[in-house]
Amino acid sequence: RYVLGIDTSCDDTGVGVVELLPSGGVQVRANRIWSQQVHARYGGVMPELASREHVERIDEIMGAALKEAGLSVEDIDAVAATSGPGLVGALLVGLMYGKGVAQALDVPFFAAHHLEGHIFAAASEEELRAPYLALVVSGGHTHLFDVPEEGKYVLVGATRDDAAGEAFDKIARLAGLGYPGGPAISEAARRGNPDAVPFKEPLQGQKGFEFSFSGLKTAALLAHKAGAKPEDLAASFERAAVRFLVKTTVRAAEASGRGTVVVSGGVAANRALRAAFAATDLHAVFPGAGLNTDNGAMIALAGAAALHTGRSSSTLDAGAEAYAPLARLLAESPAL
Ligand code: ATP
Ligand code: FE
Repeated sequence: RYVLGIDTSCDDTGVGVVELLPSGGVQVRANRIWSQQVHARYGGVMPELASREHVERIDEIMGAALKEAGLSVEDIDAVAATSGPGLVGALLVGLMYGKGVAQALDVPFFAAHHLEGHIFAAASEEELRAPYLALVVSGGHTHLFDVPEEGKYVLVGATRDDAAGEAFDKIARLAGLGYPGGPAISEAARRGNPDAVPFKEPLQGQKGFEFSFSGLKTAALLAHKAGAKPEDLAASFERAAVRFLVKTTVRAAEASGRGTVVVSGGVAANRALRAAFAATDLHAVFPGAGLNTDNGAMIALAGAAALHTGRSSSTLDAGAEAYAPLARLLAESPAL
């Protein structure tokens, strides 16, 4: 069975197709993304422009995804589209488009939670079996969930200020390394000295599992003003951020007894982060290539999981939500 997934939560138009095998296994058959360029000159995403670009591109990206999968639209057995959180105008485009396709084909429709999509991106690599911890490290979130059973999410800790990806982006901009900052920092870090700039561990001694990146950001600004080389700043910041993320997650694993952690979101593409998790006793699962940052295939993977476990599909009046905590949405709604 084939599941179509659509994500238009921010400035990427993503459409993916996943094949759900009778065994419950999944295979990503297509993953097409249109990354909007119009925002570059504003230094940030302009919501209204994002919505319009999604409208202009979605048909083309859908066609490209079906072509990549070698399917025609009639082959699709279920549709999932992100309903939140994200930019409401942008979300509406993919959500309405997905509902339209589902209704035209008379197949189930799933309103997907964006963060559940990020988590299920890792299902491309191995079957996710609860219980596990899920660390979502993206441009807008640094959220650590405990997943005691399928479809249940308990928030263990979150960032008090900036998201991890946001910190990479801001420090890259400060150091003149370009955008998006994550890959730029990672690349520059290879040529830098991680001992050059001393960063203090954030929230040292905390009993909980919260995150914070504002202290690292301020320290980076001071080091930059004091003349630190961009490569050294990148290497030192990357190591500090990675150590902090891994240490906090390992403590949460010890406290909860979980042995597996799913790490996802754009920052999960980071090589140093992957290496650091590999060096722990935890079994760390990461999304496959091209599935870390926003994409449609991760939404299709979440949809495939819902279809497989027999979760009831959403009604066609499911609305777009700018603010939608994962834990609340799942506790109160029959949607994904
Ligand atoms: P959210 O899902 O929270 O709304 P988002 O979807 O915009 O946010 P993603 O697309 O998952 O975020 O991730 C984008 C972020 O990932 C950017 O901040 C980017 O700098 C970061 N990122 C991408 N690649 C890397 C990398 N190799 N190392 C570190 N950070 C990275
Ligand atoms: Fe995202």
